[in-house]
Amino acid sequence: MPLDEFDLIDRFFRHCGPESSNVVLGIGDDGAILQAGHTGGNTEELVVATDTLVAGTHFPEHGDPAEIAQRALRVNLSDLAAMGAQPTAFLLALTLPEADEQWLSGFAQGLSQAAQTFTCPLIGGDTTKGPLCISITTLGSVPRGQALTRSGARPGDIVYITGITGEARAALDILQGKSRAETNTENHLLARYWRPEPRIAAGTHLRGLASAAIDVSDGLLADLQHIADNSGVGAIIEAGKLPLSKPVQTLTSHQWALQWALTGGDDYELCFTAAPGLSSRIDACMQSIGLPATAIGAITHGQGIVCIAENGDAMALETPGYRHFGV
Ligand code: ADP
Ligand code: MG
Repeated sequence: MPLDEFDLIDRFFRHCGPESSNVVLGIGDDGAILQAGHTGGNTEELVVATDTLVAGTHFPEHGDPAEIAQRALRVNLSDLAAMGAQPTAFLLALTLPEADEQWLSGFAQGLSQAAQTFTCPLIGGDTTKGPLCISITTLGSVPRGQALTRSGARPGDIVYITGITGEARAALDILQGKSRAETNTENHLLARYWRPEPRIAAGTHLRGLASAAIDVSDGLLADLQHIADNSGVGAIIEAGKLPLSKPVQTLTSHQWALQWALTGGDDYELCFTAAPGLSSRIDACMQSIGLPATAIGAITHGQGIVCIAENGDAMALETPGYRHFGV
């Protein structure tokens, strides 16, 4: 049987190099946590995450270079958000087919804009020749012991999603010429694809409240499965509770809008869990940052994710989410 992305990591890379007491959390979460120094009397931990965007796989090769850069940095910062970390700086490893000045100027402009927006300077990297590929490593900080991880969900916890999912998947249909909508709708959806919002404020505000968190890169159910696996629990999701995008519903049927909200990737919202007793504090916290979080289900004993349709039946879904090398 062919190895998928996660089997491959587990088999070949999970135990590489010596055990080290400096590593608070290694492979398997949105970012790694390392012990760092003391700042102003507080002990901080360093959070490190890296993500590669390959032309033709993670973005259309002939897209606007400024937009490609925005997306590259933003999706990387999303992993820091999922860890509850505040961005510090980033490194850029850029592989280019040629040194096209016009392309580079657009790319640098988009990158600089995103770096300003999230107060995250570029501090180094690497440049090589080859097929277009952008690899970014982000560094962030979190007070010791307060990082959000995928492993803290407990039976009875409520499952939340920030914002709305499914919009980036709809944008992909537009980019691939499969769907059309009126200009405002298209612009809104395309912005969600090219400039996803890393939920940094949500992540930092949820420290001490959320029991587990992940950013939705591969699809809500697929990413919630990672929380379930890492926490040794299951989950039940009520599809009828999911917030659905109005723009997406002008593009496709209710059924597809729901399917995309559950399984479409690239939205970079945060899926998180919290004890039911904290629900009013969660609501107040999300209100304070102006980002809705919707309760969509609960963590259960056992394993696997059950999704209940609006009519109460268990839902059969086309694909749970995206996997490189996946079947
Ligand atoms: P995310 O979607 O949050 O970026 P991934 O699904 O890419 O996370 O990766 C899952 C985990 O596996 C992460 O902890 C990541 O650092 C780790 N990982 C991925 N590829 C490798 C690799 N080649 N070597 C070591 N660790 C890896
Ligand atoms: Mg992630």
